[in-house]
Amino acid sequence: MSPAKKDSLNLYKKKRNFEQTPEPSAAQSKKKEKELLFVVQKHQASHLHYDFRLEMDGVLVSWAVPKGPSRNPVEKRLAVQTEDHPFDYAYFEGVIPEGNYGAGGVMVWDIGTYTLLKKNNQRLLKPRDYLKAGQIEIVLNGKKLQGGYVLVKLKKQSVKKNWLLIKMSDEYVKAKKRINNRSALSNRTMKQIMQAG
Ligand code: MN
Repeated sequence: MSPAKKDSLNLYKKKRNFEQTPEPSAAQSKKKEKELLFVVQKHQASHLHYDFRLEMDGVLVSWAVPKGPSRNPVEKRLAVQTEDHPFDYAYFEGVIPEGNYGAGGVMVWDIGTYTLLKKNNQRLLKPRDYLKAGQIEIVLNGKKLQGGYVLVKLKKQSVKKNWLLIKMSDEYVKAKKRINNRSALSNRTMKQIMQAG
């Protein structure tokens, strides 16, 4: 494991006791596929929110999205950047026990791959470069979310962790259609996940 990756997961490790929570430890997994992963986890913690995560350099760069991603370009969703999570977290679905950080139910609400959006004549940079620049344009290929999305960092603010997650206008806009609220992995409802413990 490179020093950079170790540092990136320090906060994740500090917040958790892996003897108590079923969440993945920060051990690095061996990944062969070249496609980059994205996942949206619905998290029934003290406040219900959605965690939007993009694979970058073998970890999941993460944002908490209180209202969840929208498929309507008009609805700009606040996305607050949180600590990087280990890659294996993408498949974590279950219950974080009482008394632990983020206690409550976690559902893999959507999962799939993403690509960086290439603009005409521009050389494609690495995901982290767009993260640093504060604007990440991506195309999602998930079960519920598809097409172009942009994450834009809000600049004029004292807290520098606030971004907006916005659907781009394309053929995947589904402004009115309701999204199915079951797990993209197990087809379970949040209630069923919580009951299984
Ligand atoms: Mn969360």
